[in-house]
Amino acid sequence: MADFKNEFSWSYSRGGLFNECKREYYYNYYGSWGGWDKNKSDNVTRTLYVLKNLQNRWQWKGSAVHEEIERILKELVSTGKLIPLDKSKTRVTEIMRNDFRSSREGLYWNKNGSLRNEPALFEHEYKPEIPNQIWKRNYDEVILCLENFYKSQVIEEITELPKETVLSIESMTGSYFSFNPELYYVKLDLAYSIEDRIKIYDWKTGSGNSDELQFLIYALYAHEELDFDLDKITVTELNLFENYTKIHTFSPEQIDYAKEYINKSIEDMKSYLINTDENTANMTDFPRTEDRKICELCKFQKICFDLE
Ligand code: SF4
Repeated sequence: MADFKNEFSWSYSRGGLFNECKREYYYNYYGSWGGWDKNKSDNVTRTLYVLKNLQNRWQWKGSAVHEEIERILKELVSTGKLIPLDKSKTRVTEIMRNDFRSSREGLYWNKNGSLRNEPALFEHEYKPEIPNQIWKRNYDEVILCLENFYKSQVIEEITELPKETVLSIESMTGSYFSFNPELYYVKLDLAYSIEDRIKIYDWKTGSGNSDELQFLIYALYAHEELDFDLDKITVTELNLFENYTKIHTFSPEQIDYAKEYINKSIEDMKSYLINTDENTANMTDFPRTEDRKICELCKFQKICFDLE
């Protein structure tokens, strides 16, 4: 893999990690850099890189649902055909089964190159006691989310749309803010336009409160980058686990708040760097959180306290 530079960029999840634990943020974005090259990276970099790619079982559930919906929608948009629910369930079951086996055997440690799509579960790395019924429940929730997706109005909406009006199905897009020179990334689960309106969907696969700020950032992107008027933008939160829909709209004041939040977040992140132009950082400048509850679920816990 060719060498490439570690460029600074901003995303909502990056900001969240920075707020959670500065050291975890460092491992994730700086310490693990280059660790995809199994033969060239040193032991610490390699370990941080592998650990960075772990997912816990809740994240795995979310990924399984998001990726299956992505396959369903992309097939539907490109061919006009909808895979039947039973076939979709069979497909996702097969994928999850294979992923589970591969992760349990720890195959992710052997692979050279990107581990982004490699099954690697936190629970297999750290081996907490997870009874079979917990894994089974996790799988059942994936199936429940898919069943609710098929009951939702989304499929009907997409079936009736001209292909070119679909703007995003899980695509990760990099753009520049109008109010800050930095690059940022946004991933919209689904977005399509109808005349001068844009409808953005966000799938949720668990219970709990939705993240209004994340939706605001989607709206900001649609407004600034895709040029939709603010009053023509909606984000529909489709909770596939609890089976409800909530539509979010946005005011100019909320957008101003999002801009302030992003500016502050970028400024804070950069204040920890040794060289902002080169985007370089020193590990010891990034303190560990004092909240040990955060450490219990952290992917880097097996190496963190052995380092300086
Ligand atoms: S183990 Fe704790 S202190 Fe270390 S990176 Fe993770 S959350 Fe931060």
